[in-house]
Amino acid sequence: MKTAIYPGSFDPITLGHLNIIRRASGIFERVVVCIMKNAGKHSPMFTREERVEMARLVTQRYPNVEVTTFDGLIAEYARTFPEGAVIVKGLRANTDFENEFQMALINKKINPDLDTMFLTATQKYTFLSSSVVKELASYGADLSPFVPCEIIDDVMQRAAGNNP
Ligand code: ADP
Repeated sequence: MKTAIYPGSFDPITLGHLNIIRRASGIFERVVVCIMKNAGKHSPMFTREERVEMARLVTQRYPNVEVTTFDGLIAEYARTFPEGAVIVKGLRANTDFENEFQMALINKKINPDLDTMFLTATQKYTFLSSSVVKELASYGADLSPFVPCEIIDDVMQRAAGNNP
């Protein structure tokens, strides 16, 4: 089967993201996590390089998963895979559906060969987003149910205002 491209801002990567990555890695031969600029989302908590580093750290257990970045349109990025690729997205709620449905149609318009496949969020992560994680971290909450343990300290430190 083809390559799956999983795009997002991953600021920071959460257990919800990781759940989609793990499941996609069991379905596709290759999963490319593509860390985009946060279009519309200003002042990220982590730089793109830091987000890439964190995503690589927590996905290293999956041999068919790689982490990369791209600055342009994901529909154009997909063209760089000669063997073809599909986009994978996670769906949490109605709001995700509205946005993702529109995005999938736009991507198809730009690149008619490109399909988008949706994996429904695991129930225990339907409420989880990077924004929720940042909010909880700012109150010093226990992040262990929400983000991979390898990056909890980084998130807590950044929320406390400590830059490297
Ligand atoms: P967020 O919405 O958390 O800021 P991203 O923009 O990085 O995350 O999201 C990238 C993709 O991951 C999107 O398709 C989004 O719907 C999906 N996703 C995010 N959080 C979850 C979750 N908890 N469960 C399933 N999919 C998710």
